[in-house]
Amino acid sequence: MTNHHFPIPNTFGMPVKARVYAEYRSVEELREFLLQFRGEKLLHIGAGSNLLFTSDFNGVILHSAMRRARCVSEDADHVLIEADNGLVLDELIAQLCDMGISGLENLSYIPGEVGASAVQNVGAYGVEAKDVIDSVRTLAVADGSERIFTNEECRYGYRDSIFKNELKGKYIITHVVYRLNKHFAPRLDYGNLRGEVGANPTPTDVREAVIRIRRQKLPEISELGSAGSFFKNPIVPREIYDEIAASYERVPHFEQDGGVKIPAAWLIEQCGWKGKSIGGAQCYPKQPLVLVNANNATPQDVMALADAICKDVQSKFGITISPEVNYI
Ligand SMILES: Cc1cc2nc3c(=O)[nH]c(=O)nc-3n(C[C@H](O)[C@H](O)[C@H](O)COP(=O)(O)OP(=O)(O)OC[C@H]3O[C@@H](n4cnc5c(N)ncnc54)[C@H](O)[C@@H]3O)c2cc1C
Repeated sequence: MTNHHFPIPNTFGMPVKARVYAEYRSVEELREFLLQFRGEKLLHIGAGSNLLFTSDFNGVILHSAMRRARCVSEDADHVLIEADNGLVLDELIAQLCDMGISGLENLSYIPGEVGASAVQNVGAYGVEAKDVIDSVRTLAVADGSERIFTNEECRYGYRDSIFKNELKGKYIITHVVYRLNKHFAPRLDYGNLRGEVGANPTPTDVREAVIRIRRQKLPEISELGSAGSFFKNPIVPREIYDEIAASYERVPHFEQDGGVKIPAAWLIEQCGWKGKSIGGAQCYPKQPLVLVNANNATPQDVMALADAICKDVQSKFGITISPEVNYI
């Protein structure tokens, strides 16, 4: 008999369970849980939209039911908004757009919660969470003490932060403080966003345009399980890009961090994986960067598909692509 009873929410739709699932409604309650479960295997999750559980979880899953946001200060140009970790980021963005407060609207429709957005440094349409994060409030898992991290101390990079590296599993983000704008300066240079919004857009116009574009390209998690982009886009030395560009017509690319970023979706498509399946896991036909649970996929199906794709990209282009999704 297994003692794993509690289903773990995850957008991939993996049928996994945990020994304990504990949801807290305040920072004090979280601190009590940390004391109660000291020494046990712990994992704090948000909406489970960037996770691939490879088996049941033999430990304690923590989740926040704190879902409010408040204005902590403002001046003529900016507003500091402190949001609880368990608030769905997209709900926060909808409220902010209604108030004419801007800075997060390009991140609309990402299915995660506020806490994880500051771990993952989520990004879309030319904006990353780090661009507007002022600071992050946390509790230390070891002793429940409070610590505030400034933006610099979070050491943000592309889908990366200190909470995914040196401090992985050591701090729980309880609140994120965003520094947002009262005067709107839309950021429309990415993809076809400029063409999708009308003249003189409001934050809500940009939000709606982003949602329209995303709905055309990405699977709805209510219909098809996924964790969004499965792989990170690799940044390669210029020589590697030049070699590929000599053999293929119009290789999509962006200059970044002294190298060249090549969309992993393009590399995967060139390897012939678009629309292909292993077991119940499929490389999504409309966006090959996304792996979907097309037909009762097991974690092993998803891992086998991801491994086969990585191997082919490596042998065809000599480029290593790595998962953006967290394997648990
Ligand atoms: C359809 C779809 C589209 C997506 N589009 C995008 C996109 O455009 N851009 C993008 O960047 N991502 C995208 N994602 C990925 C995902 O939504 C983001 O990574 C999101 O930030 C994950 O949030 P979550 O609340 O689901 O976190 P989870 O997946 O539950 O957790 C992610 C990680 O954060 C940790 N964590 C969670 N909460 C806390 C906390 N409070 N304190 C400390 N650690 C914590 C977890 O332990 C885990 O390591 C997409 C996903 C899907 C399914």
